[in-house]
Amino acid sequence: MEEEPYFYHPLENIEDIDEFEAAVERVHLTKAVSEERPYTYWTIELYDQKNGIRGGGGLGVLAADTRRVAELNGVPFTLITPFYPSEAHQEIVDGQVRDMHVAVDYHNYGFRFIDNVFVKCCGNLCKLDVIEKRFKSTRIVSVTEPNFGELYSGMSGSDHRLYQEVSLGFGGYAALKLLGLKPAIMQLNEVATFFAALARLDELASNGMDFYEAVVYTRKHTLYTNHTLVQAAEADFSHEQFERFVYPNLKSPAVKKWIDDKFDDGHIKLSSVTIEIAELRSGVSKLHARVANYHDIAGNKVKFKAVTNGIDMETWVLPEIMSFYKKAGIIDATDYPMPNFAEKLDALDSDAIRNLKRVGREELNKVLAKRKDQNGKVLHFSEDDFVFDFKRRFVDYKRPEMPFREPARLRSILEPVGAHYILAGRIHTGDDRMTAKLKSVFETIAADDYLSTHVHYIADYDEELAYGLSVGSNASINIPIVGLEACGTSWEKDIANLVLLISTHDGGVADCSKNNYLNVSGNTEEEELEELYIRMNEAIQIWNNDFDLAYTIRQQLEAFLPVISGTRMLKDYLDYLFAM
Ligand SMILES: *Cc1c(COP(=O)(O)O)cnc(C)c1O
Repeated sequence: MEEEPYFYHPLENIEDIDEFEAAVERVHLTKAVSEERPYTYWTIELYDQKNGIRGGGGLGVLAADTRRVAELNGVPFTLITPFYPSEAHQEIVDGQVRDMHVAVDYHNYGFRFIDNVFVKCCGNLCKLDVIEKRFKSTRIVSVTEPNFGELYSGMSGSDHRLYQEVSLGFGGYAALKLLGLKPAIMQLNEVATFFAALARLDELASNGMDFYEAVVYTRKHTLYTNHTLVQAAEADFSHEQFERFVYPNLKSPAVKKWIDDKFDDGHIKLSSVTIEIAELRSGVSKLHARVANYHDIAGNKVKFKAVTNGIDMETWVLPEIMSFYKKAGIIDATDYPMPNFAEKLDALDSDAIRNLKRVGREELNKVLAKRKDQNGKVLHFSEDDFVFDFKRRFVDYKRPEMPFREPARLRSILEPVGAHYILAGRIHTGDDRMTAKLKSVFETIAADDYLSTHVHYIADYDEELAYGLSVGSNASINIPIVGLEACGTSWEKDIANLVLLISTHDGGVADCSKNNYLNVSGNTEEEELEELYIRMNEAIQIWNNDFDLAYTIRQQLEAFLPVISGTRMLKDYLDYLFAM
């Protein structure tokens, strides 16, 4: 039987309260978990192209950043995710965005083959490669096989998705045993990872632990992190699918009975069973944790602890800006804001901002040199060009097409200063509505002789482009329909890189007050659009005035730096998981 992973010893010999708290903090970060009992993080999506794994969006970026921040803080941490042998890219062909697919080989990314594990599916034994890559106190453990397919391939609720999810859960749990690792905690990054917790429950219950004790134990050591707002939107699996893909992998009849009882009319939603198996539950911003509408099987509303997503600043912030923050005493060596960081922000005057952004603009140009816009043009901007960007997945609620609803008005903002507007974002495979909307944006742009040369769509949005735009733009636009963004992290990359944020009050942005950035509000979409155009004009004026520039950039940082810090996020998780 597994021992309790963490015990909070009082630190009796320390009298100074600050020293005491610092010591408690260190105990947290080092003693809560150990090399053999790591913090385990389960995710169907990881966005970490350097290591050969390309994600779809924010969920995967969060996973990659969480591991990097654990590495920075020396926390023993194992991330378990599939390695997909194929990945999706996008290109523009004849004015339309098209998907294309690229094969990926884990041998090219420094992964080490460990051994094989097997999952049972549809009467077959499926063989998975277990591979591993280490990074100081952390590692990535992956399961894969040549026909594993692509991230989010097929419909949610399809056999192939269930196969991928079962492989990650049961295969990944077997992989940990192979490596001699016992999870101190299992963090489930969304419900596609449910089967990892089920594998643990099954192992405990089939190795002699009383079934109810096994449930209690698993529940106490499992954290479900929710990124979605409405449970109803989630796809179901059928009982028949579970008979083929899930039950053959269970050893304990009691566990099978337990899950069998959770079916409603022959169907099951993974969120409903994830809630049952995880006593700890978190949402990804204050607003999201409050409004996520989930119920347990008894019908009670589920409470989520708010742990707002942060970012790994070492990855996303221009190195010159990071050096500035550290030299000025704004953040410490682990990218945590210093207690008096607000005063230290005074060092960030307009000259400093302009000099740092000049370096960022060159980085953006390097990224743009490898790409083309919708007209086949390679872009290059001078340090004086004003650049707006909108960079995020093209989904309806983020409203990528909104600024183009009044093209003459948009032109009247951009043209007097020769400003450019860059659009970047992936359309979800098969999203015909968004494909059509983007096509209509292209038509709007093409019909105007200024917009056609100053609005640019760059295809195949990825980490590199996200980074280039954050370090190189002047102002970024984030206008989700209020209430629909769980957190978002692109806007955090922007603020940390001294970009003016124009945003609706939603997701993690709503962690702080509306007065800290260029807020877009309104009772109707027309009012919001009007405010958006006003804020775009303001952003241009702010960049033309040294006092306003320093004031606004500092205000953004003063409010949001603690939110942005990935180390803050990790500490929040550790506090929630291990504090008494
Ligand atoms: C940061 C990042 C995201 C996160 O986007 P949000 O819309 O802010 O959640 C998505 N994709 C890529 C490539 C990123 O770098």
